[in-house]
Order: sequence, then structure tokens, then C-alpha cells
Amino acid sequence: MEELKDTYQRRIDYLRISVTDRCNLRCVYCMPPQGIDLMEPQGILRYEELMRVARIAAGHGVTKIRVTGGEPLVRKGIGEFLRDLSSIPGIDDLSLTTNGVLLKEYSQRLKDAGLKRVNVSLDSMNRERFLKMTRGDNLKDVLDGIETAHGAGLVPVKINMVVIKDFNDDEVVDFARLSLEKPYHVRFIEYMPFNSSEGWQRDKCLPARQLKEVIEARIAPLEPADTSRGCAGPARRFKFRDAPGEVGFISPVSEHFCGSCNRLRLTADGKLRTCLFSDNEIDIRAALRDGSSDGAVEALLFKAVKEKPERHHINENIFKRCSRTMSLIGG
Ligand code: SAM
Ligand code: SF4
Repeated sequence: MEELKDTYQRRIDYLRISVTDRCNLRCVYCMPPQGIDLMEPQGILRYEELMRVARIAAGHGVTKIRVTGGEPLVRKGIGEFLRDLSSIPGIDDLSLTTNGVLLKEYSQRLKDAGLKRVNVSLDSMNRERFLKMTRGDNLKDVLDGIETAHGAGLVPVKINMVVIKDFNDDEVVDFARLSLEKPYHVRFIEYMPFNSSEGWQRDKCLPARQLKEVIEARIAPLEPADTSRGCAGPARRFKFRDAPGEVGFISPVSEHFCGSCNRLRLTADGKLRTCLFSDNEIDIRAALRDGSSDGAVEALLFKAVKEKPERHHINENIFKRCSRTMSLIGG
């Protein structure tokens, strides 16, 4: 089997599949209030087309798949799709990123379908602020969804908080405290510049290092987590002594982790993207629809991987924001 390896000898074993551009929230850093121009339904890859790409990728060393969107739980048939994905030989880690609004209703079905774990996006535990941030009054649904997911065994439940200065940074300590009470992995994510992030300014993005200092000063020192357990990823993982949960920091802006990037993304409209911050896309939809052979589809995967850039350029003058919003890329 020939593995997917890029020009910089990084082995690509992780595929992120965006199943939809639709969403039931309108987070301020991701979408304008009226939403975005949606993809034509016929332009969105059918589940069998997504499965074909996943199967071919698994045949070349992809072992992890994350399903995302838009909001993946709003797409009809998502449970069956996850069941099919989990049955692909070689896929040993199947996860999903969700805003959690529908998680209470879906957790058990997702677990039964073979999903291993979920990442839930939650940026505030204050109802008013949650409403302001997501333009949806769903805080209780998300909190219930997190508990239900944990109860259903979709573990560890990871809670992803995007931290924005003067917007929700005063809640960072409360979020870190959650890991003292529950076995959740709370992760702080730096605010990133996308086309949709209208208010993005460098000083709104708080470096992870600074957040860690604040948390340690207010709660207790953090110790390195046992990274032999759980999945490898971009988060720097810590825990408070004897805490059931963990605290992690993901710092794509202040300390990039491009050197260990193992990802390939497939957008809902069938474009392969090799870097979150690069608009370079390889179209795979045409090949999936014009009767091309698996060999031709495979060749496109290898081509995309060969074009994976060494790193992003957010911190350089040449950086241009991506034309797609995060919801269209599949975060
Ligand atoms: N709708 C699902 C959700 O919100 O979890 C999945 C898709 S969403 C695009 C994936 C992740 O991207 C979410 O955790 C969201 O917070 C994150 N995200 C979107 N825009 C972002 C930005 N400008 N900076 C940092 N993270 C962002
Ligand atoms: Fe929807 Fe997720 Fe974007 Fe929020 S971050 S608007 S939940 S796609």
C-alpha cells in the first residue's frame, strides 16, 4: 500500500469530511447574521460519494476520520453515514465536531452507529452571551447534549472554546474549572482569521501561553497530561492534579503546529483542501461524477497531498484571508 505522504515527509492519516454547509446557529466569528450563500443541493456530495473517497483514502493509510460541517447533525441520514464510515476497514478513530444543539437527541444513535467521540463547540456558559455569540438561544440544549454524549460513552467529550478578547475571555477560568468537576477535555482555541471573521484583529486573539498563565494563577499549576492515552493532535494537553478532566490549548496563530500536520480536508462540495488557511483546492467532485475509475480518484488524493504547503502564513504580510468561511471549509 502506498501511503499518502507529502513533500515534507508528513504522513497524511487524518481526513476531515464536511457533510454540509448548512447550520442551525450563526456564530459571530463564523457567519453573518443572515447566513451565507448556500451551496446548490446538487453540488453537495452524496453520502455514497463521500464513502467512496473515504474508502480510497483508508486504502492509503488514513486511519482517522472526523465528520464536520456546517453543522453535521442537521444533515438527514447522518447516523447511517457514520455507521457506514465506521465499517471501513482501517478506520480506527471516527469522531464528529458539533455545536451540540441536537446532541441530546442524537448521542445514543451516534454511539450505536460506531462513532467514538465528539467535540462540542461552546464559547460561553452565560445564556445572554451564548445568544450574542451564536445568535441562538440554545445554551441549555448544548449543556444537556454534552452530558448525554458523555453518558452515551462518546468519550472523552471535548469542549472547544474559541477565546476572543473582551468578548468571552473572562470565562476562561470557569471553563478550565469544568475539568476539575467532570472528565471533559476543555480546549482553548485561538481566534483565527477567516473571511467571515469580520471583527478579527490580531489583538482579539489571545495567545494560548497567556491563557495558561491566567488559569494557573487563578486555579492551580497544570501538569502535563498523559498523552500516551487518547489521541495525538494539535492540542498541548495538561491537567490539574487529581482532576478527572483535562485542559488543552490549540494555538494555530501564536505557535503554529504545521510541522506535524497530518490532515486532509474534503469540503461538502467536493474540494480537497490541504491547509485550513490556503485557498488551494483540488476538485474531486467531477471525477466522482463522470465515471472516473477509483485509480483516477486516488490520483487526485495524491496530487492534493503533494501540494500541501509546508506551513501557513498568518503571521506574515503575504497572508490573505481564505475566501471560504470556516463553515464552508469544515472546521
Ligand atoms: N458547526 C460545528 C461546530 O460549531 O462545532 C462544526 C463546524 S465549525 C465551522 C468547527 C469549529 O470551527 C467550531 O469549533 C468553531 O468554533 C470553529 N471556528 C469557526 N470560526 C472560527 C474562527 N474564526 N476562529 C476559531 N475557530 C473558529
Ligand atoms: Fe455553525 Fe459551527 Fe459556524 Fe457556529 S461555528 S455558525 S455552529 S458552523
